[in-house]
Amino acid sequence: SFKALMVDKQSDRFEIGIRDLSLADLPQENVTIRVSYSSINYKDGLAATPDGRVLRAYPMIPGIDLAGTVVSSSDSRWREGDEVIATGYGLGTDYFGGYSEYARIRGDWLTALPQGLTLREAMIIGTAGFTAALSLHRLESNGLVPGAGPVLVLGATGGVGSHAVAMLARAGYDVTASTGKSSEHDYLRMLGAREIISREALQAPEGSRRALNSEHWAAAVDPVGGASLPYVLSTIRYGGSVALSGLTGGGEFPGTVFPFILRGVNLLGIDSVYCPSPMRETLWQRIASDWKPARLDAMVSDEVSLADLPAALPAILKGGVRGRTVVRIAQE
Ligand code: NAP
Repeated sequence: SFKALMVDKQSDRFEIGIRDLSLADLPQENVTIRVSYSSINYKDGLAATPDGRVLRAYPMIPGIDLAGTVVSSSDSRWREGDEVIATGYGLGTDYFGGYSEYARIRGDWLTALPQGLTLREAMIIGTAGFTAALSLHRLESNGLVPGAGPVLVLGATGGVGSHAVAMLARAGYDVTASTGKSSEHDYLRMLGAREIISREALQAPEGSRRALNSEHWAAAVDPVGGASLPYVLSTIRYGGSVALSGLTGGGEFPGTVFPFILRGVNLLGIDSVYCPSPMRETLWQRIASDWKPARLDAMVSDEVSLADLPAALPAILKGGVRGRTVVRIAQE
């Protein structure tokens, strides 16, 4: 038998805890993996609460990320001993995910661990870092180049934000980090931010709802959404883009059409979950090479075990986590 974190909900009873399972309890998919590491993302925090609204079925093994080694496979692309990464595709929300010593998933959902990354490093990156890389890729596909002007990262001390700061800096951009944590300026500078501004600086002044403000940012990476988004859009330079991935600041935003129709600003939707497989391979290669954050270990705020998860998961929903939490599942 092996151990996994399970959440269950029946009428008004919600349970979360470590369970003993056997391989026969896993879904009938074609690749079985011994999981070495997972991580904690915002969505995993939601999965661990009764009203998180991200789980499609109960009982569920959460964990939207995993990295480990194939132990058996009937998919010709994967063999015993292959080191692999899986993120998204409903892992940990619709299908049993990474908080488990073993996982059985579809070969289509796997990416080979690229040269240049260890399994642990792949989970310091995880969905958060992959989302930052996808954001950077989409900004560059829409014309962003180093030298175009300052690039803003919102929620900069979070998982997506920390990786976005580090990758943009590594790729040669002039990064401004916006954060609600006044105590973390040194951390953001260490990741490569040139300027730091407060979260409040990105809210339109009370009473003012100007459709356009002076052009400042060449682009923005936004995992926050909510009330700051219209203001950010109103300050993007002509033809620039905002890569929008998240909602820690709220799921709704007020706004006007003017940044789009008068300045040709682009609002780019970023989805890591169903990002097609060829793009995943391209991005993981870049994450492992020219975009690899210089100080990955400095982004690890905590490393926890499976048994620590029930206590560790809620913290991310309060917005208080800095960087990434790695989950150590099984050691060789
Ligand atoms: P995280 O580590 O908790 O980072 C979120 C950061 O947002 C916080 O650290 C905080 O940074 C800031 N923040 C928190 N509460 C806020 C508030 N009320 N107003 C403004 N800013 C606030 O979470 P994450 O894993 O990076 O995920 C971030 C968001 O992106 C989540 O909404 C998540 O669901 C989403 N996401 C989407 C995708 C996708 O595929 N689209 C992939 C990954 C994540 P500061 O204190 O530095 O301001």
